[in-house]
Amino acid sequence: MRVLHVCSELFPLLKTGGLADVAGALPPALAKLGCDGRVLVPGFPAFMQGIKDTQLVVELPNKFGASSVRLLQGKISNTEIEAYIIDAPGLFDRLGNPYSDTNNQPYPDNYRRFALLGWVAANLATGLDSTWTPQVVHGHDWHAGLAAAYIKVAEMHTGRKLAGTILTVHNLAYQGLFPAHVFGELELPDYFFNVNGLEFFGQVSFLKAGLYFSDKLTTVSPTYAHEIQGIEQGCGLSGLLGAKSQDLVGILNGVDPAVWNPEIDPIIASKFSSRSMVGKAKCKTALQEYTGLKVQNEFPLFTIVSRLTEQKGLHLVVDGILDIINRGGQIAILGSGETAIENAFEALAIKYPESVAVQLGYDENHAHRLVAGSDVIMVPSRFEPCGLTQLYGMIYGTLPLVHKVGGLADTVTDCSLENLADETATGFVFENFDVAGFNSAARRAFALFARKTEWKKVQKFAMLQDLSWDAAAQKYFDLYQQVIV
Ligand code: ADP
Repeated sequence: MRVLHVCSELFPLLKTGGLADVAGALPPALAKLGCDGRVLVPGFPAFMQGIKDTQLVVELPNKFGASSVRLLQGKISNTEIEAYIIDAPGLFDRLGNPYSDTNNQPYPDNYRRFALLGWVAANLATGLDSTWTPQVVHGHDWHAGLAAAYIKVAEMHTGRKLAGTILTVHNLAYQGLFPAHVFGELELPDYFFNVNGLEFFGQVSFLKAGLYFSDKLTTVSPTYAHEIQGIEQGCGLSGLLGAKSQDLVGILNGVDPAVWNPEIDPIIASKFSSRSMVGKAKCKTALQEYTGLKVQNEFPLFTIVSRLTEQKGLHLVVDGILDIINRGGQIAILGSGETAIENAFEALAIKYPESVAVQLGYDENHAHRLVAGSDVIMVPSRFEPCGLTQLYGMIYGTLPLVHKVGGLADTVTDCSLENLADETATGFVFENFDVAGFNSAARRAFALFARKTEWKKVQKFAMLQDLSWDAAAQKYFDLYQQVIV
């Protein structure tokens, strides 16, 4: 089965969030099932440098404002992942991240940049590379949304189905919205700019194009798949998602054991496993020393590794942190994002240097240190499609403290008395999205931490959860079977 993944991030080469982790881990997991997968990515500098031994597949017309477009093929370094890369320097060879410039302003021509991505995906489905034609085109997020629309156009011309199309929504809040006037540049039939098409309240929506024109839709947890069909979390698309609910499925993300695994992690101070936790205690001490926090193990050390955005519910932490500090707890934070949240955490770190440590920015190594050396990882998100950090926490015996929403609700079981008795508890879950709800979960963490035997039991159970990609890969594989051409 030949499957083309269309995405704009891929770990380890380029990552702004969980999408990259999924794009890097899913194709190898599918390969174990016999799936012949390739990825298609834009020629961002990180991809141009990190995809080795590239060969020219074909020169392409200068579309969407590009002055030169070539399709290259190569292998992602240090992996077995085969990749196509669109070498269009005018559109993709820029400083900044895949979507925004160095001042965090979205590139004004994003609609052209990602139209080209979708257009090339569709052309691969029509035989652009005579040696390999995908039977399924699997797009990820709005960046790949137009692939399904261009494939639909090609199918209308050829009169036959060219490829099964799947769109995975990693976060419905990011929709790729552009003013109506850009539609004329997208080279799509006029009537596609319609409520039954990619029009969204007078704008062009790349995400809606993908949702509307794809054969099947997935999102990254069953609860989020349900939530986005309601008004509150549907981001204006609940009607369409509800209408396509028969074709919408939630498949939980897994964890890549080559990257997140305390038994082999080369970054952390001392390796450990559910059988021997001595190394974890060393990781905690090393983390406290590294961050300047007071070295202690009487009280829990909480961590946050996150984009610092409103979605992540971090104002609850800002408002509830004093309660944690007053109980003797510590908090080590890594993240970047909204200035107000960054400033609030930095001010707390200055005021309480023995209790609060903050590192702003993106730092893969520090993320590993924090996940390994902390006792509790906090993910109090307002909404959360899947969430990966709570999964990483569990694997490292760092119990998650989460809001009961989306993928967090699907993956963490609260340490209530009955769940402790049943030995199903893996963390601390709060339902009411307010400071009182957050603080009550934090208090449960303190209470459990004081009961060392119980704590260790929960830690062990969390660490033994099967969070591998195998189950997810099988579900995607089954879905591909339903749409394959
Ligand atoms: P989202 O995709 O909404 O950002 P996820 O929990 O699905 O959230 O994935 C976030 C990923 O990004 C995780 O792999 C997490 O470790 C990583 N991450 C987030 N912020 C940082 C940071 N500042 N430094 C390093 N890694 C980070």
